[in-house]
This record gives sequence, structure tokens and C-alpha cells, in this order.
Amino acid sequence: MILRDGAPPRPVAGPPPPSDSTVYDAIVIGSGLSGAMFARPLVDAGFRVLMIERGDWVPQDLRNREPAGSLELTPFFSADQTYRTVNGRRAALVRSSSCVGGAAVFFGGAVLRYREADFDSDPEIVGDSGACWPIGYEDLEPYYSLTEQALDVAGVSRADPTEPPRSMRYPQVARPLSPVSQRIAAAARTLSLHPSILPLAINYRGGPRSCVGCDRCDTYACAVGAKNDPASRLLPDLLRSGLTLKTNTVAVRFDTRGGEVTELTCYDRACNRWATYRARIFAVAAGSLATPHLLLASGLDRLNPGGHTVGRYLMRHCNAVVFGVFPRRPNGTGEFHKQLCFFDYYFGHPSVARPRGKLGVIQQIHPPPPGLVRAMLPSPLSRLACAVIPHMPGLVVIAEDQPQAENRITLDHGSVDRYGLPQPLIIHRYSPRDLEARRALVSAASRILRRAGAAFCYVRPIETFSHALGTVRMGDDPTTSALDATGRFRGLENLYVVDGSAMPTSAGVNPSLTLSANALRVGEHVTATLQAGVDSEQPTGSPYLASVLGLRVGHAHPQ
Ligand SMILES: Cc1cc2nc3c(=O)[nH]c(=O)nc-3n(C[C@H](O)[C@H](O)[C@H](O)COP(=O)(O)OP(=O)(O)OC[C@H]3O[C@@H](n4cnc5c(N)ncnc54)[C@H](O)[C@@H]3O)c2cc1C
Repeated sequence: MILRDGAPPRPVAGPPPPSDSTVYDAIVIGSGLSGAMFARPLVDAGFRVLMIERGDWVPQDLRNREPAGSLELTPFFSADQTYRTVNGRRAALVRSSSCVGGAAVFFGGAVLRYREADFDSDPEIVGDSGACWPIGYEDLEPYYSLTEQALDVAGVSRADPTEPPRSMRYPQVARPLSPVSQRIAAAARTLSLHPSILPLAINYRGGPRSCVGCDRCDTYACAVGAKNDPASRLLPDLLRSGLTLKTNTVAVRFDTRGGEVTELTCYDRACNRWATYRARIFAVAAGSLATPHLLLASGLDRLNPGGHTVGRYLMRHCNAVVFGVFPRRPNGTGEFHKQLCFFDYYFGHPSVARPRGKLGVIQQIHPPPPGLVRAMLPSPLSRLACAVIPHMPGLVVIAEDQPQAENRITLDHGSVDRYGLPQPLIIHRYSPRDLEARRALVSAASRILRRAGAAFCYVRPIETFSHALGTVRMGDDPTTSALDATGRFRGLENLYVVDGSAMPTSAGVNPSLTLSANALRVGEHVTATLQAGVDSEQPTGSPYLASVLGLRVGHAHPQ
């Protein structure tokens, strides 16, 4: 189990002796979606891969549906590492995932592709930030398709007019719409909107691990393993194929020599001891907050010509949940109904005067379960809330936010964490455009819910950093980005960053499918590099995984 309140380890003065004489082919830090997808082609090619994960396995049983299983109360959303945030005048503490499988164990399962134009630099969004994708949609499309297969996504292809071309169909068909989803879809159509099916990484194939249609996806680990997250779906297979996973092990410092990472120092929380590991290639997939923290704490930014960008341009989307409060409980609110999404406002809408241009997606979400509300609120308030909750189907709005240099994760040299590292500090403030985009989507969502019969709407902004992105971004220009197009950290030959940190812009959709597809793309490049014994700044065209799966990877074409 996770060691939480043990005696703090002493800071490392110098590297402890190698605790493992193996020189791995690759070491991956983080067992979330990005770590698992990066590791896939390497493990399939027979390379020795070590995955370092600071958390433990989340037990999979019916207790996960209890309030204590929710992200707000579970110990698997870290008590070990918190981030102090400064947001305008307010300061708060942010917790992050700390478990095998990462945040996706608690995620909502909505897996959407960026639209083709999301890979172009829209001046209205990127401003003078220099954010610029070094790859286009067509480069990522094969990996999107393979990732959808790996996550066994249920969806409907070509369901909305903004959907980009795809080379493969979704592997599963979507669950039929619940009555409340049908009601919202019908109401939206009367407003000339185009509801489409939200693609979900959920197992509907039948059997003991199939979705039972409860409403505990977002913020809960699935009690039956029906969510196709890394812990349920990706890691068991990787472990069978030869991956070595060290849980309860915190990566603390990289050591470098001659333009290469030589060693990774870790703290083993299960045995309370320091350890060092060596490999030919190192990949950081610790999430967009922990990854820059680790790189900055190791001083690696000083070795990179674009090192001043490390930790900066933090994005998180500008999100809110709009709950429609219906006079009579709509049919089906007690069953699974996170099913619809709306792209009508994605690239702007004639009814929206400000901001002009891109806004984002609107999608269904469940209200919080009454048990959790009772556990979190004082009793008179919770009684009132529990009576209203079944009357409140919700829509979440995800507005694209701007990459701003001032929004960053940095080091607070005034205090150290229990591993001797300077504490991470998040500085973040939304731009006026971010807030306007959210307001425009909130009014659109409220209109849909009122047309469906809501008497009024209750809006709750989302304050978390669950969609953190962009803090070690890719780019072609070494002076404005820290990673090249292959995900390699400039200045070090054998270090890659493979999580959402690498993404130069946030687009207006949930990030997991894109960060996973990119991790797979980088993993395939690294596999080919190790196989060839050379490195190259050019992305390799070796579709290793595709050939394993017998899939043709080529240009995307509409179905
Ligand atoms: C409640 C919630 C709902 C969400 N819903 C959706 C959704 O519906 N759709 C969507 O696309 N996205 C969603 N997200 C976001 C999504 O979960 C993340 O984008 C995704 O999981 C990120 O994966 P990752 O592998 O890059 O990072 P993470 O999942 O953060 O994984 C990083 C891993 O690295 C480990 N780690 C960190 N530091 C260290 C260290 N120093 N040493 C060792 N290990 C370390 C962590 O413990 C963690 O396991 C949601 C997030 C939350 C919190």
C-alpha cells in the first residue's frame, strides 16, 4: 500500500550506487495513458522496458462506488504530492493522481480527436506565444486509429460535420441513448444544433467486465473494470508481454553527462530506500504538472536551447458544468447518460459576437452522486442538494484556452518536498478570451437545457488542473520549444517527453486521445531508433505496431 506519513527520506547528496545492474533499453516514468501507450511498441519489439510509478494499484471492487472511492476522497489522488497554485489573488492546493494507470483510472472516458484545423496555429488563440504544432493531423491519424483500437472505444464514425477523416472505424458500437439523452438531443435539434455520440473508452461487449450502466465514471475508478483505462486494459497486457513495473517508486532526479541522461534516482516508498536505474532511453510521462517539475528540479532546462519554455504555457481548458434544474425528474437521470456531444460551437458560431473564432465542445455529464454530496456538504445543505440532484442532468463545456508564457509551473526554492526537491508552484490566470469563450459555451449549453425543459440552470466552473497541458511543448523552432517533432528533449540525446506536456495547444476537446496517440507515435519512433541503433530528428516512418496488428497505416480517408 501507499506509504503516506512515514518518516521523510533524507535528500540525496550524491547518487546512491546503482541498485539494479540492468541497463534497460528504456525507462518510462509514469504508468498513465501516455506512459502505457509509449511503452507498447517497445515492449512488442522485445526491448527491456522499466516503468517507474509513484502510486499503487487501485483495488477494483464495489467499494469504488462508495463516496470514499471518489477522486475527492480516495487516497489514490495524491496525498503525497500537492501543488500550491496562485491564480490571480487566490491560492489553493491541487492534488494529482498517484496510482497505477494515472488520472485515467478516474477519468470520464470521453476520447475525442482534435479536429484537423486544431493543428494549425490560429493567431486568435496562440497570439504571440509561438505555439506551433510540428506535426499535422495526417501525421497523427494512424496513431489515433490505433489508440482507439487499444482503448476499444465505442462511438459512431462521421457523426458530426467537424469530425476529421479516419482510416479505421470505432471498434465498438455506442450504447443506445438513455431517455434523458434522447430528450436533450431532440431539444437541441429544435435549436438547429447537431447532437452526436460522445466516443467513450468503455467496455460494452458483455461479460463480467462489461459496463453495468451506473453513473460513476467521472471521478471514480470503475468497480467492475469496464472503463478501458491503462490499469484495466493496457498494463495487464504489457506486463504479460515483459514490461517491468515498479510501483510506489518516485522518480526524483536525472543525472546527465556528455549530452545524455546517465541515471535516474528514485525513492522506493515500499522499502524506504533510494535507488538508481540506468537505460539507453528515458521517457517522461508523469503528467503535465509532474513532468516539468522533475525536469526543472534536475536542472535540465539549462541544457536545452528552448529551456526557458520548460514549465511555461500551462493550459488546462476553461471548463464549467451547466446543470439544468428540471421541475420534474427527467426519465433516466439515475442511469448512465454521458452520451452526447455538440460541435456546433467548436469553430465559433454566428450567434456569438465575442470571442470570434474557436470556442470548444459541449458534452453531457452526470451530476455528482447523492452519497458523495452527503459526504462533502454539511447536512441541511446536503439534504437540499440530494433532493435536487436527480432533477439536474448536466452539460460540461470545454473551452480552448490560450497558451500564455506567464501561466506556468515553477519551483518554490523556499520549501522542499519530502524527497528533497524544491516544491512545485503553479501560477495560472485565464486570459479574458478564455473566460469569454467559456461564457459563450455556457449560454449555449443553458439554451439547450432550457429547451429540454429545465426551469433554470446552475453553473459551476471547473477549477481543477485535470486537463493540464503544454508545459514542455514540441515545436520546430528550438528557441520557442523544448522538444523536437519526435518528442526528444533538445540538448539531451536520449530523453523524451511523451505526455500532454508536449502539446502546444489545448484545442477544445478532452485531451487524452491526442496525448495517447502522440505517445504511441513517439514510442514507435524510439523503437525504430533503438532497432536501427541511431537517432534522428526526423520522425521515422516505421509502422511497427501497425504491422503487428496487421493494419495498414497510410493516408487517412473518409469512411
Ligand atoms: C476526474 C477526471 C476526469 C477526466 N475525464 C477525462 C475525459 O473524459 N476525457 C479525457 O480525454 N480526459 C479526461 N481527463 C484527463 C485525463 O485523465 C488525463 O489527460 C490523462 O489521464 C493524462 O494521462 P498521462 O498519462 O499523460 O498523465 P497521468 O494520468 O497524470 O499519469 C502520470 C503518472 O505518473 C505518475 N508520476 C508522476 N510523477 C511521478 C514521479 N516523480 N515518479 C513516478 N511516477 C510519477 C503518476 O502517479 C501517474 O500515474 C480527466 C481527468 C480527471 C482527473
